Amino acid sequence: MTTSCWMTLVDNRSMGRTLKTRSALLASFWFGLCLFLSACTGEPEAKVTRLSGMTMGTTYNITLVTEGEVEDLANLKASVNNALAVVNQQMSTYIDNSEINRLKAQPVGEWTKVSRPLAEVLDVSLWVSEMSDGAFDVTLRPLVDLWGFGPGQEEDKVPTDDEILKAQSRVGYQHLELDKAGLRVKRDKPIDLDLSAVAKGYGVDVLAELLEHEGINHYLVEIGGEMRLKGHNPRGIPWRIAVERPDETLVQSVYQPLSVTNMGVATSGDYRNYFEKDGVRYSHTIDPRTGRPIRHNLVSVTVLSPSCAKADAMATAFSVLGAEDALTLANREGIAALFIIKESGQLKEVSSEAFKPYLTEPVAKTTSVQ
Ligand code: ADP
Ligand code: MG
Repeated sequence: MTTSCWMTLVDNRSMGRTLKTRSALLASFWFGLCLFLSACTGEPEAKVTRLSGMTMGTTYNITLVTEGEVEDLANLKASVNNALAVVNQQMSTYIDNSEINRLKAQPVGEWTKVSRPLAEVLDVSLWVSEMSDGAFDVTLRPLVDLWGFGPGQEEDKVPTDDEILKAQSRVGYQHLELDKAGLRVKRDKPIDLDLSAVAKGYGVDVLAELLEHEGINHYLVEIGGEMRLKGHNPRGIPWRIAVERPDETLVQSVYQPLSVTNMGVATSGDYRNYFEKDGVRYSHTIDPRTGRPIRHNLVSVTVLSPSCAKADAMATAFSVLGAEDALTLANREGIAALFIIKESGQLKEVSSEAFKPYLTEPVAKTTSVQ
């Protein structure tokens, strides 16, 4: 008999900061779109090694499945932590002298050299911006700060229309030019970068490549809910993950099992990081078109893509677009996406055509999870 061991990935997802409010912490823990992994059995046939730690203001978890002991585990762990520290130093808004924070001091209208990882992330980001017609925009930082979701901001305040307009005038991915081959960027306005919606996914890709370089071909890597899976799980079958639906009764009860491997998976949910003011909930995901936090019936989005960075950015883009437009876009571009929508108090799933092969069981299976 096989007993499933479910692992909850609690999601604390902002780069370098704790969750905005206690309510967000609670929401993150109980209502969070958690991913449960059928990752272990009573008697694993293979050697299972787990590594975990903190990065980007959240946790990382790695599960390795190997035939024998992992060679020089201490060294591997050091390489993982080092790789994550490098990504943070390049992309964190929370590190004063990070590469993106130094970029804003560079003269406008001139080319500035950037590291290869930053060029790669900007390439993905600009591609997703174009694809989503600006729903995703890494130049949104003035608005993120204005709404109190930036570094060191704990005050919950709703900005005025004037403040929003002013911040919007300093936003726009069109003002950022990337020369990917030449590893340089040019800004034609003093725009400022916030890579929080793509950097965790990129970090996952970096770790996945590191593991593959070490000859490890069966793994699950996860940072703050974004993940990449390769090969098989400890039972020797493709990894299975389950998307849990937020449940207002605080019971983690409904999930959608997926069979996924050799793939990146990212989720975006408006209930995880937000603040509440005068009975209104303000999400940390901001619609660049309105300059305001998103407000619609799309509760969460899960996107699959071989590149976790792309999946991460697209999940945020789809969150901004809302279910209807996002579904049209996902079907047009052949992107695998699962949307959880709230309609008349009921949660409902809708998936794009490309997502359907991953659904292992009918949608809306109910279970109770310990
Ligand atoms: P989620 O998983 O909910 O998408 P992420 O951590 O991936 O959350 O991204 C949210 C963060 O991205 C916000 O805290 C903010 O810094 C930034 N952000 C908010 N709205 C956008 C947007 N429309 N485009 C790009 N980045 C955004
Ligand atoms: Mg994201």
